[in-house]
Amino acid sequence: MAAISGFFSHLYTITLVLFTIMILELVMLVQSVTGFHSRKPKINSTQYLKFIEEKNPTIRYSKRSKLEPNECIVCLSEIEEGEKVRRLKCNHTFHRDCLDEWLQQFWATCPLCRTKVLPDEIVANFRSQNEVYDGSDEDIMHMLTALHSNSIHRFF
Ligand SMILES: [Zn+2]
Ligand SMILES: [Zn+2]
Repeated sequence: MAAISGFFSHLYTITLVLFTIMILELVMLVQSVTGFHSRKPKINSTQYLKFIEEKNPTIRYSKRSKLEPNECIVCLSEIEEGEKVRRLKCNHTFHRDCLDEWLQQFWATCPLCRTKVLPDEIVANFRSQNEVYDGSDEDIMHMLTALHSNSIHRFF
């Protein structure tokens, strides 16, 4: 008898877990169908870099073009002939990679004079995506993964 009641309580747990998974999957489905979380298109790093590239195209540094300054303030080293650089509207020039890193990690402004490099709404969108994300999709995904692997390991 004990074996049987054990079996039933086991079955009950399995049903409960599977039911929770089903509910969560349903929630995700509804969200993806209604576009609940995609009211505002989010900007990821690739798109953000594309915006930077559009506004400030990469150029090859040449001493003859007399770009100022000839030192990259981000890495504090001299810009060499032929290196990939970006020249901002304020006429300040930086290594492309140094500037891209700076614009993503710190502020979307010129490291030297603080002139805005990108429109505010793009920066705000990118920041909201990468710092305080408000999408609960990822939470549900984590929960689902945990539940799936848990139930599989424990019961099957
Ligand atoms: Zn640099
Ligand atoms: Zn500047």
